[in-house]
Amino acid sequence: MNSQLQFLIELQRFDLRIFEILDHKKKLPELIHMAKAPVLEVSKQLEILQQAGETLTKQRRDGEQELSLQEEHIQKIRGRLNDLKTNKEYQAHLFEIELARKKKDALEESVLEVLEQVEKNQTEQQELHVRMGEVEQAFAKAKEQLESERLALEQELSTLERQHGELTVQVDHGLLARYTKLKSLRKGFAIAKVADGACSGCRLQLPPQLVAEVKRADELLNCSYCHRILYWEPMPDTLIDAQAQAPESENIQELR
Ligand SMILES: [Zn+2]
Repeated sequence: MNSQLQFLIELQRFDLRIFEILDHKKKLPELIHMAKAPVLEVSKQLEILQQAGETLTKQRRDGEQELSLQEEHIQKIRGRLNDLKTNKEYQAHLFEIELARKKKDALEESVLEVLEQVEKNQTEQQELHVRMGEVEQAFAKAKEQLESERLALEQELSTLERQHGELTVQVDHGLLARYTKLKSLRKGFAIAKVADGACSGCRLQLPPQLVAEVKRADELLNCSYCHRILYWEPMPDTLIDAQAQAPESENIQELR
């Protein structure tokens, strides 16, 4: 096969992988953001519970204060017992004590209810703190994984860019310009293999004469429809070896 064509096929493989890496790197901040979502969610729930807890504590204090005032009030009423003169006054006094006691009972009950809610709130907060620990741990792990993924991608990228540069200088200037132009027109795919008599770029059937010429590979030929530079598969042994290390033709298909 024309060695220039082999260079271009390699170049396209590098270009596509570089594009893929850059695209993936761009998505990493969003992936980290998504991994953090459960932490933010639990933190929000915790904040709501804490606020409710504060309100309940205040309710408890107010209730207890009111209760103790009511107890004092009952003591005061009782103290008036000796001032009573008539039976009617005595009956009224008993009634007043009964009313005050009923109010005290109601207050006690509501304080107890609030206390129950305070306890429930505290239990829920404890559970949520445990949950918080879990989601924070999961987030830290995910973040670490994404970070090491980013490092691996950057390493691969710098290797690819070096290899890309080395390869570029070996490609004929005019051809490189043709490749670059096609690449920008065809979303990264300037080179297409011929499979079953069709261009794998646009999937249109090629004239048999053109297929035969591509097969001979005496010169670089374009697809009659999408103008991608065509190559024939199976390839010579040298390129098969290169492909065994990195199955670029499969990647090209997948990336479409
Ligand atoms: Zn085509």
